[in-house]
Amino acid sequence: MKDVDVIVVGAGSAGLAAAKTLRAAGLSFTVLEAMNRVGGRAWTSTEHFGIPFDIGCAWLHAADRNPYFPEAEAAGWTLHHHDMNVDHLYYGKRKASEEEEAEMNRADYEMSAALENWSGADGNVSSLLSPGHAPRAAATFAGPMDFGQDYDEVSIEDFRAAADLEPNYFTKEGFGALVAQYAADVPVELSTPVRKILWDVPGVACVTDRGTIRASAVIVTASPAVLAFEEIEFSPALPDDVVEAFFDLPMGMLTKLPIEIRGTRLGLAPFDDLLIERPARHDIYFLCFPFDTDLMVGFVGGDFAWEMSAAGEAAGVDFVTDRLCGIFGNDVRKHVGRAAMTNWGGERFVRGAYAAARPGRAAARATLMEPVAERIWFAGEALAGSLIQTCGGARLSGETVARQVAAQLGAK
Ligand SMILES: Cc1cc2nc3c(=O)[nH]c(=O)nc-3n(C[C@H](O)[C@H](O)[C@H](O)COP(=O)(O)OP(=O)(O)OC[C@H]3O[C@@H](n4cnc5c(N)ncnc54)[C@H](O)[C@@H]3O)c2cc1C
Repeated sequence: MKDVDVIVVGAGSAGLAAAKTLRAAGLSFTVLEAMNRVGGRAWTSTEHFGIPFDIGCAWLHAADRNPYFPEAEAAGWTLHHHDMNVDHLYYGKRKASEEEEAEMNRADYEMSAALENWSGADGNVSSLLSPGHAPRAAATFAGPMDFGQDYDEVSIEDFRAAADLEPNYFTKEGFGALVAQYAADVPVELSTPVRKILWDVPGVACVTDRGTIRASAVIVTASPAVLAFEEIEFSPALPDDVVEAFFDLPMGMLTKLPIEIRGTRLGLAPFDDLLIERPARHDIYFLCFPFDTDLMVGFVGGDFAWEMSAAGEAAGVDFVTDRLCGIFGNDVRKHVGRAAMTNWGGERFVRGAYAAARPGRAAARATLMEPVAERIWFAGEALAGSLIQTCGGARLSGETVARQVAAQLGAK
């Protein structure tokens, strides 16, 4: 008895791609999504500022390998190539000197070289930094901003396996809107969290509040944190190494703090990158006035991002306002309009920004890339090879896994 060939859990980038690939292979499927919308961590909203704002993914990374990029071009999306080099570096309220900026670039280069030449047992990225590293900015991008984790919590092996994401493009209409467009022809059962997956039955059965669906296989795209929290109960329990792998891939955090600055550009140009270095990795990065809109989009990452989420939106907005006033003067306050703070840690069915392996545990990704009993398959950004943590990578992971499932089921 089965209702469909394959059940897909989650309608984010990976789940949508899996569904489309299954359809192309002639298989029947059902996509079950916990939230009341598609896209998962790809979500553009106009609610906050009256213009598209990406609450989740925003940059089309690795555009030369990112399947969304040609689609954005074909759809006439407004795309900006963003070099992401730091244009303005501050230490607290003080502008860094030219010498300090040069030092930062040198440290960045040394960091890349250390990663490239690294061999031996896995450790954390901070062990690659020279002690008392004066320009900390290189470390900021090798930890909180890129991986969503402080660099003493990032595995060297995992960090090294991640691709250089150049070329990076930013879109005016929104990456989330692009994914929603990609989803348009995929039937999805919204507001239908999967509570339990039974696999001691023929095939699998997914239990939801609206009933139970049977299939030959299931593709689970929920984040490792959702699985570690046992939002989905597996019966019988999954093998220990699989469960451990969920815990070995904790979610890093990236919190966005967009703020409107009206009637002045503070001497900054659209798409300038402004980095304020602060003690103890409490740094903040601003993407300035993308597409000449009034937004300065602040980003904090790693432990600080979790702390900020816990402090709440009002604290977050005060924090960005005060930092900008510290640099550009108190007059900035008169120009502040609407502001917001994202909170992916509080999103029950995501629980963070993206997964990063614990030092020494990078092999967890490979563990989850193996199916369980040839019936339970995992897909998503955490399993996207060199494009881990990216939306394009999640899509490629969904496609790859769906092709493997189709081959397993003997589809065309
Ligand atoms: C703040 C932030 C900024 C980012 N910036 C970028 C960026 O600039 N560029 C980039 O490429 N990437 C970026 N990313 C990462 C990117 O958004 C993700 O890698 C990608 O969207 C993940 O897709 P996914 O399908 O693997 O997972 P998800 O999008 O999380 O999809 C999984 C889906 O499964 C659903 N689900 C979970 N549990 C259940 C259940 N029990 N039953 C049913 N459904 C369930 C979830 O609701 C979700 O919709 C960012 C992420 C964040 C949070």
